[in-house]
Amino acid sequence: MSGKYAIGLDFGGTKILSGVLNLDNGRLLGVGKKKTGHVDNHADLITRIISVIDESLEEAGVAASQIGSIGIGAAGQVNREKGILIYAANIGVSDLPLAQPLSDYYQIPCALGNDVEVATIGEMHFGAGRHCSNFVCVFVGTGVGSGIVQNGQLYRGATGSAGEIGHIVLDPFGRLCGCGLLGCLEAYASRTAIAKQIVGELTRGSDSVIRDKIDMQKGILRSKALSDAVEVGDEVVTTALSQAAQFLGMGLASVINFYNPQRIILGGGLVEGCDYFFTEAVKHAKQRALRVPAKKIEIVKAELGDYAGVIGAAVMAREKTGLVVR
Ligand SMILES: [Zn+2]
Repeated sequence: MSGKYAIGLDFGGTKILSGVLNLDNGRLLGVGKKKTGHVDNHADLITRIISVIDESLEEAGVAASQIGSIGIGAAGQVNREKGILIYAANIGVSDLPLAQPLSDYYQIPCALGNDVEVATIGEMHFGAGRHCSNFVCVFVGTGVGSGIVQNGQLYRGATGSAGEIGHIVLDPFGRLCGCGLLGCLEAYASRTAIAKQIVGELTRGSDSVIRDKIDMQKGILRSKALSDAVEVGDEVVTTALSQAAQFLGMGLASVINFYNPQRIILGGGLVEGCDYFFTEAVKHAKQRALRVPAKKIEIVKAELGDYAGVIGAAVMAREKTGLVVR
């Protein structure tokens, strides 16, 4: 068993991503990827996960016996002690033991966390959070989630749900949120919310270059398509992004006022792929926050992109098995 390499696994609604990480320098030596697909039974799912891990080991040219630990970041509610995925709406599973089967198969320790916490750990060790001990990572995707780092440690809260920035209430009579209540931040600033607004405009007959690039039923839209539309001055897309960025900025201003972090790291495909959205959100956050913290706050983009979760999961696994990274 080696202390140098760990497996990081990102288990999401659309894909399972695995990476072999060199813990000394944060370099990914190999990756594996498969669609999550429909989950018929737990055993098949574990077999699929193992095949993704093996694919990453093969690409890395690292034998399973050289791996010291496995970390998983799953998109849902997790029981960290038992290594069980309690509920994942996007994956369609509940009460799924993940850590134990993998630990049994590879004969090494395996730790489970949620996707946002592992991505935050990734940024903390090898991304935009290096050399910063108090920061908040905010990820904009199907929802809006965040991870809080306090004195160099992830802060999880009394029941483990700290950082649910997506459910900061901006308007008590506002849009319906996935959580069942009205007016939450993610009902305005998530990628899903932006796509919904654009679909609404198109349905009402507005003209936009995005028309051919959006799935009108599912509201699926690539960040690159949004970015290109802003580039050519498309009004429907620019307005939708501008409003969403304004709401995101309001949420960030609340975080700045309440927590007074040194840095906010913004991640997710839309933030990383669309400069306009990022710049507008930063502008509104600084305008809305109190003067002194607003002046000092550093708002930067995440650095690890799609691999933040994989890298962070690997780091988390090593920390949980008792050895400190770096
Ligand atoms: Zn909500």
